[in-house]
Amino acid sequence: MRSTQRSIIIVAFDGLQPAQATPALMPNLAAFANDGVAFDNHHAVYPSVTRINAASMVTGRHPGGHGIAANMLVMRDFDPYNAFSAMEPTLAKVALKTPVMLSPTLADTLSRHGREYVAVGTGTSGNAYLHNPNAARVGGATIHPDFCLPPALHSEITRRFGDWPGEGETNADRLARAVDIMTEYVLAERKPAVSFLWFSEPDHAQHAHGVGAAVSARALREADEQFGRLLSWLSANGMDADTDVMVVSDHGYSTIREVVDIETLLRDAGFPPGDEAGGVTVATNGGSTLFYAHGSDATTADRLASWLMGQRWCGAIVASDAVGRIEGALPASLIGVQGRRAPDLAMSFRWDSRANDAGFLGYVFSTGGGAELGQHGSMSRHEMRNALFARGGGFKRGARVQSPTGNIDLAPTILELLGMSGEAMDGRVLSEALADGGAMDWQTTTHRAERRFDDGTYRQSVTVSTVGNTTYVDEGNADFSPS
Ligand SMILES: [Zn+2]
Repeated sequence: MRSTQRSIIIVAFDGLQPAQATPALMPNLAAFANDGVAFDNHHAVYPSVTRINAASMVTGRHPGGHGIAANMLVMRDFDPYNAFSAMEPTLAKVALKTPVMLSPTLADTLSRHGREYVAVGTGTSGNAYLHNPNAARVGGATIHPDFCLPPALHSEITRRFGDWPGEGETNADRLARAVDIMTEYVLAERKPAVSFLWFSEPDHAQHAHGVGAAVSARALREADEQFGRLLSWLSANGMDADTDVMVVSDHGYSTIREVVDIETLLRDAGFPPGDEAGGVTVATNGGSTLFYAHGSDATTADRLASWLMGQRWCGAIVASDAVGRIEGALPASLIGVQGRRAPDLAMSFRWDSRANDAGFLGYVFSTGGGAELGQHGSMSRHEMRNALFARGGGFKRGARVQSPTGNIDLAPTILELLGMSGEAMDGRVLSEALADGGAMDWQTTTHRAERRFDDGTYRQSVTVSTVGNTTYVDEGNADFSPS
């Protein structure tokens, strides 16, 4: 057990790939990583989209455990046949009917120890909301340009700091404001045990301009400059010694090969909407798509899987326990997707490792965006691998961790650093990165499934690494070989 006087700051760069943390693009982060611990084998949860990874960071659970299946999802306990985007104010409406998340967050656990969790987010409203849905009851705060939890805080913040800057080509002005609020208000006055600062770059620029585009590179440099301001403030205010800083990204990135209007194709193939018998509700998530069969009907799910497997863009497919074994699909439980709110089928689009014009690896089909722009959400290794760095008295210095780690490990590791016991979690304490920790053993296994059709064979493989009981999804892909 460690000191209860420590505090921890998490900084997220949305969509940052490890390959971008270079001295040329991000001098402050590169120096930070060099001094502290660099995690060379870090993992997002699947699907590799933002809000569910944020939820996994604060709960230590895979999506099957915390119940936020993706950015676009169906919560049958809220609305059985409609896919919705997990955004404010929709999430507040969900909360009136059913718990938004099925497992406790760091904010919930800290409050039991009389400590606070405060998040400052410049990403989507949904991302910010998921950091602490129970703020009204358990305390702590979430600060976002559109709203605060508790709500009354919003006017206090804008009175002190002014109206939030609007979104620009890059979000530099918003990130600067977030650092102002984090330092002058959150750290100086509230002194929470854990604070979280979410930078919406490089994600915002990469979606609009592509990975490695000039605007995206500028967004990285600007975000890094704001990170440098935060570190300078900690140092100038004597907080270096008692503060551990963890820097993370929610997911990696690919470049879009081609946009697929999957719902139109599915309807044209004869699948009615999900509120009809034999129908399917579709939740599109960039590099992946979730499907909810009417009544979780196994025959419908099997017919859908068979149709998907024959498409040139179809990658790995997992099936929920509710629809049971589907030939050619792998179980959702293998990759943390199984749970009360699991989709009946989850499909990653097919991907490859070709380089784009700027030299960044990874192309993928997508439900939105445009060719050559940035995207994520699939089971590509380029999206499932993301960034984690840590520095502070609790961590080793100048170390590299090769063992698999993931976003699900943040919450248990933070609670360990604070000397607090937490809830049961899927993630683990990253003891190999802590000052007194030793190396970790791990195993990597590839699971395969196939299905033969008259015109060929669908074959998929999903690779998973495990450390003890904790699992990380390395990658999953498929192809179709004509007979
Ligand atoms: Zn993101």
